[in-house]
Amino acid sequence: MFPEKVRRRCGDSLRRSLEREFHCLDGVVARAVRIQFLGRSYTYNPARDIKISSTLFRKYSCLDYPGCHICCTGYWCVFQLHRFPAQAGGKVPVVGIQVRVEEQGFNYFGINHQDPKTDCPFYTDNRCGIHSSNPISCMLPLRTFRFRKGVLTIGKSLFGRNWALGCPVKFGTYSSLAEFCEDTLPVFHRFASYLDDLHIPHMGWKIVDLINGAAERRFNTVV
Ligand code: SF4
Ligand code: SF4
Repeated sequence: MFPEKVRRRCGDSLRRSLEREFHCLDGVVARAVRIQFLGRSYTYNPARDIKISSTLFRKYSCLDYPGCHICCTGYWCVFQLHRFPAQAGGKVPVVGIQVRVEEQGFNYFGINHQDPKTDCPFYTDNRCGIHSSNPISCMLPLRTFRFRKGVLTIGKSLFGRNWALGCPVKFGTYSSLAEFCEDTLPVFHRFASYLDDLHIPHMGWKIVDLINGAAERRFNTVV
Protein backbone atom coordinates (compact mmCIF):
# COMPACT_ATOMS: atom_id res chain seq x y z
CA MET A 1 0.00 0.00 0.00
CA PHE A 2 1.21 3.52 -0.75
CA PRO A 3 2.77 5.71 1.92
CA GLU A 4 0.64 8.57 3.15
CA LYS A 5 2.73 11.27 1.46
CA VAL A 6 2.40 9.52 -1.91
CA ARG A 7 -1.37 9.41 -1.49
CA ARG A 8 -1.40 13.10 -0.73
CA ARG A 9 0.86 13.99 -3.65
CA CYS A 10 -1.13 12.04 -6.20
CA GLY A 11 -4.53 12.03 -4.60
CA ASP A 12 -7.70 13.76 -5.64
CA SER A 13 -9.98 15.62 -3.27
CA LEU A 14 -13.67 14.78 -3.23
CA ARG A 15 -14.34 17.76 -5.50
CA ARG A 16 -11.63 16.75 -7.95
CA SER A 17 -12.89 13.17 -7.96
CA LEU A 18 -16.40 14.38 -8.79
CA GLU A 19 -15.03 16.69 -11.46
CA ARG A 20 -13.30 13.72 -13.01
CA GLU A 21 -16.49 11.66 -12.77
CA PHE A 22 -18.41 14.25 -14.78
CA HIS A 23 -15.56 15.39 -17.03
CA CYS A 24 -16.43 12.68 -19.54
CA LEU A 25 -19.80 14.35 -20.15
CA ASP A 26 -18.08 17.18 -22.01
CA GLY A 27 -18.77 16.60 -25.68
CA VAL A 28 -20.99 13.60 -24.90
CA VAL A 29 -24.09 15.58 -23.91
CA ALA A 30 -26.43 16.41 -26.80
CA ARG A 31 -26.98 19.96 -25.55
CA ALA A 32 -25.45 22.12 -22.82
CA VAL A 33 -26.15 20.53 -19.42
CA ARG A 34 -25.64 22.10 -16.01
CA ILE A 35 -24.57 19.97 -13.06
CA GLN A 36 -24.13 21.17 -9.49
CA PHE A 37 -22.28 19.57 -6.61
CA LEU A 38 -20.45 20.75 -3.51
CA GLY A 39 -21.78 24.28 -3.99
CA ARG A 40 -20.48 24.84 -7.52
CA SER A 41 -22.05 24.68 -10.91
CA TYR A 42 -20.45 23.10 -13.99
CA THR A 43 -21.64 23.28 -17.58
CA TYR A 44 -20.92 20.52 -20.07
CA ASN A 45 -21.24 21.26 -23.76
CA PRO A 46 -22.12 19.22 -26.83
CA ALA A 47 -19.58 18.34 -29.51
CA ARG A 48 -20.08 19.30 -33.13
CA ASP A 49 -18.11 16.19 -34.10
CA ILE A 50 -17.09 12.95 -32.39
CA LYS A 51 -14.03 11.02 -33.50
CA ILE A 52 -12.83 7.57 -32.55
CA SER A 53 -9.05 7.63 -32.27
CA SER A 54 -6.99 4.69 -33.46
CA THR A 55 -5.58 4.65 -29.91
CA LEU A 56 -8.88 3.07 -28.77
CA PHE A 57 -7.62 -0.09 -30.48
CA ARG A 58 -4.75 -0.43 -28.03
CA LYS A 59 -5.44 -3.44 -25.89
CA TYR A 60 -4.90 -3.62 -22.15
CA SER A 61 -6.53 -4.88 -19.03
CA CYS A 62 -5.69 -4.00 -15.45
CA LEU A 63 -6.38 -7.67 -14.73
CA ASP A 64 -3.19 -8.51 -16.68
CA TYR A 65 -1.28 -6.79 -13.86
CA PRO A 66 -2.46 -8.62 -10.77
CA GLY A 67 -1.88 -6.60 -7.67
CA CYS A 68 -1.80 -3.24 -9.43
CA HIS A 69 -4.34 -1.02 -7.81
CA ILE A 70 -2.67 2.32 -8.30
CA CYS A 71 -5.90 3.66 -9.73
CA CYS A 72 -7.84 2.40 -6.70
CA THR A 73 -5.89 4.54 -4.28
CA GLY A 74 -5.72 8.17 -3.34
CA TYR A 75 -9.01 9.49 -4.62
CA TRP A 76 -12.72 9.23 -3.88
CA CYS A 77 -14.62 6.39 -5.50
CA VAL A 78 -18.02 7.76 -6.46
CA PHE A 79 -21.19 5.73 -6.91
CA GLN A 80 -24.72 6.58 -7.92
CA LEU A 81 -27.01 5.45 -5.12
CA HIS A 82 -28.83 2.69 -6.96
CA ARG A 83 -25.57 1.36 -8.41
CA PHE A 84 -23.90 1.07 -5.04
CA PRO A 85 -23.03 -2.62 -4.76
CA ALA A 86 -24.86 -4.30 -1.90
CA GLN A 87 -21.75 -6.16 -0.76
CA ALA A 88 -20.19 -2.84 0.29
CA GLY A 89 -22.90 -2.26 2.87
CA GLY A 90 -21.43 -1.52 6.28
CA LYS A 91 -17.84 -2.31 5.25
CA VAL A 92 -16.55 1.23 4.97
CA PRO A 93 -17.90 4.66 5.87
CA VAL A 94 -19.45 6.43 2.93
CA VAL A 95 -20.22 10.09 2.42
CA GLY A 96 -23.51 11.10 0.81
CA ILE A 97 -23.27 13.71 -1.94
CA GLN A 98 -26.14 15.61 -3.49
CA VAL A 99 -25.70 16.07 -7.22
CA ARG A 100 -28.12 18.23 -9.13
CA VAL A 101 -28.39 17.49 -12.85
CA GLU A 102 -30.40 20.34 -14.29
CA GLU A 103 -33.64 20.28 -12.27
CA GLN A 104 -33.22 16.79 -10.88
CA GLY A 105 -31.44 15.72 -7.70
CA PHE A 106 -29.36 12.51 -7.47
CA ASN A 107 -27.84 10.81 -4.48
CA TYR A 108 -24.22 9.80 -4.84
CA PHE A 109 -21.93 8.06 -2.38
CA GLY A 110 -18.22 8.62 -2.05
CA ILE A 111 -15.63 6.37 -0.40
CA ASN A 112 -12.44 8.14 0.55
CA HIS A 113 -9.54 6.09 -0.82
CA GLN A 114 -7.11 8.78 0.26
CA ASP A 115 -7.50 7.33 3.71
CA PRO A 116 -5.80 3.91 4.04
CA LYS A 117 -8.52 2.87 6.49
CA THR A 118 -11.09 3.14 3.73
CA ASP A 119 -9.31 1.51 0.86
CA CYS A 120 -11.74 0.02 -1.57
CA PRO A 121 -13.84 -2.81 -0.07
CA PHE A 122 -14.06 -4.43 -3.50
CA TYR A 123 -10.34 -4.96 -3.85
CA THR A 124 -9.93 -8.67 -3.14
CA ASP A 125 -7.52 -11.39 -4.24
CA ASN A 126 -5.19 -8.85 -5.85
CA ARG A 127 -7.80 -7.48 -8.19
CA CYS A 128 -11.01 -5.53 -8.45
CA GLY A 129 -13.73 -7.87 -7.23
CA ILE A 130 -16.43 -6.04 -9.19
CA HIS A 131 -14.48 -5.39 -12.37
CA SER A 132 -17.42 -5.82 -14.75
CA SER A 133 -19.69 -3.53 -12.74
CA ASN A 134 -17.28 -1.11 -11.08
CA PRO A 135 -18.28 2.55 -10.95
CA ILE A 136 -17.78 4.92 -13.87
CA SER A 137 -14.90 6.58 -12.05
CA CYS A 138 -13.06 3.23 -12.09
CA MET A 139 -14.29 1.94 -15.42
CA LEU A 140 -12.48 4.34 -17.72
CA PRO A 141 -8.96 4.60 -16.28
CA LEU A 142 -7.01 4.69 -19.53
CA ARG A 143 -9.85 5.50 -21.87
CA THR A 144 -9.73 9.16 -22.75
CA PHE A 145 -12.41 11.67 -23.67
CA ARG A 146 -10.63 14.71 -25.09
CA PHE A 147 -12.90 17.59 -25.91
CA ARG A 148 -11.16 20.41 -27.78
CA LYS A 149 -12.55 23.12 -30.03
CA GLY A 150 -15.91 21.40 -30.25
CA VAL A 151 -14.49 18.00 -31.24
CA LEU A 152 -14.65 15.02 -28.91
CA THR A 153 -11.98 12.37 -29.48
CA ILE A 154 -12.28 9.04 -27.70
CA GLY A 155 -9.19 6.91 -27.33
CA LYS A 156 -6.73 5.38 -24.87
CA SER A 157 -3.63 6.80 -23.29
CA LEU A 158 -1.14 5.67 -20.70
CA PHE A 159 -2.04 8.57 -18.46
CA GLY A 160 -4.68 7.27 -16.12
CA ARG A 161 -6.02 8.50 -12.84
CA ASN A 162 -2.90 8.30 -10.72
CA TRP A 163 -0.56 8.90 -13.63
CA ALA A 164 2.14 10.33 -11.37
CA LEU A 165 2.61 6.92 -9.77
CA GLY A 166 3.19 5.18 -13.08
CA CYS A 167 1.04 2.61 -14.77
CA PRO A 168 2.65 -0.73 -15.70
CA VAL A 169 0.41 -1.27 -18.73
CA LYS A 170 2.01 -2.13 -22.03
CA PHE A 171 -0.48 -1.78 -24.81
CA GLY A 172 -1.01 -4.73 -27.10
CA THR A 173 -3.20 -5.35 -30.14
CA TYR A 174 -6.57 -7.00 -30.46
CA SER A 175 -6.45 -10.15 -32.53
CA SER A 176 -9.95 -9.84 -33.95
CA LEU A 177 -13.05 -7.70 -34.24
CA ALA A 178 -14.78 -10.01 -31.78
CA GLU A 179 -12.03 -9.61 -29.19
CA PHE A 180 -12.11 -5.82 -29.49
CA CYS A 181 -15.91 -5.68 -29.26
CA GLU A 182 -16.09 -8.04 -26.30
CA ASP A 183 -13.61 -5.92 -24.40
CA THR A 184 -14.77 -2.46 -25.42
CA LEU A 185 -18.48 -2.38 -26.13
CA PRO A 186 -19.74 -3.40 -22.66
CA VAL A 187 -17.80 -0.46 -21.19
CA PHE A 188 -19.44 2.03 -23.52
CA HIS A 189 -22.84 0.37 -23.08
CA ARG A 190 -22.51 0.88 -19.34
CA PHE A 191 -21.42 4.45 -19.88
CA ALA A 192 -24.45 5.17 -22.10
CA SER A 193 -26.87 3.59 -19.64
CA TYR A 194 -25.30 5.65 -16.84
CA LEU A 195 -26.11 8.75 -18.89
CA ASP A 196 -29.66 7.45 -19.44
CA ASP A 197 -29.98 7.25 -15.65
CA LEU A 198 -29.08 10.94 -15.39
CA HIS A 199 -32.00 11.75 -17.72
CA ILE A 200 -29.94 14.03 -19.92
CA PRO A 201 -29.85 14.12 -23.71
CA HIS A 202 -26.60 12.44 -24.70
CA MET A 203 -24.64 10.82 -27.49
CA GLY A 204 -23.62 7.73 -25.51
CA TRP A 205 -25.48 5.30 -27.77
CA LYS A 206 -24.25 7.10 -30.87
CA ILE A 207 -20.72 6.65 -29.54
CA VAL A 208 -21.37 2.90 -29.28
CA ASP A 209 -22.44 2.93 -32.95
CA LEU A 210 -19.39 5.00 -33.95
CA ILE A 211 -17.07 2.57 -32.17
CA ASN A 212 -18.79 -0.38 -33.85
CA GLY A 213 -18.39 1.27 -37.25
CA ALA A 214 -14.75 2.19 -36.65
CA ALA A 215 -14.01 -1.35 -35.47
CA GLU A 216 -15.64 -2.96 -38.49
CA ARG A 217 -13.67 -0.73 -40.84
CA ARG A 218 -10.42 -1.36 -39.01
CA PHE A 219 -10.68 -5.13 -38.82
CA ASN A 220 -11.87 -5.38 -42.41
CA THR A 221 -8.77 -3.55 -43.57
CA VAL A 222 -6.15 -4.45 -40.96
CA VAL A 223 -5.00 -8.01 -40.64
S1 SF4 B 1 -14.27 -0.65 -7.40
FE1 SF4 B 1 -12.60 -1.86 -8.24
S2 SF4 B 1 -11.51 -0.49 -9.65
FE2 SF4 B 1 -12.79 0.78 -8.29
S3 SF4 B 1 -11.48 1.38 -6.60
FE3 SF4 B 1 -12.53 -0.51 -5.99
S4 SF4 B 1 -11.18 -2.21 -6.55
FE4 SF4 B 1 -10.50 -0.35 -7.63
S1 SF4 C 1 -2.15 1.87 -12.91
FE1 SF4 C 1 -2.68 0.94 -14.87
S2 SF4 C 1 -2.76 -1.30 -14.50
FE2 SF4 C 1 -2.76 -0.24 -12.50
S3 SF4 C 1 -4.95 -0.09 -12.00
FE3 SF4 C 1 -4.38 1.81 -13.04
S4 SF4 C 1 -4.82 1.50 -15.24
FE4 SF4 C 1 -4.82 -0.50 -14.21
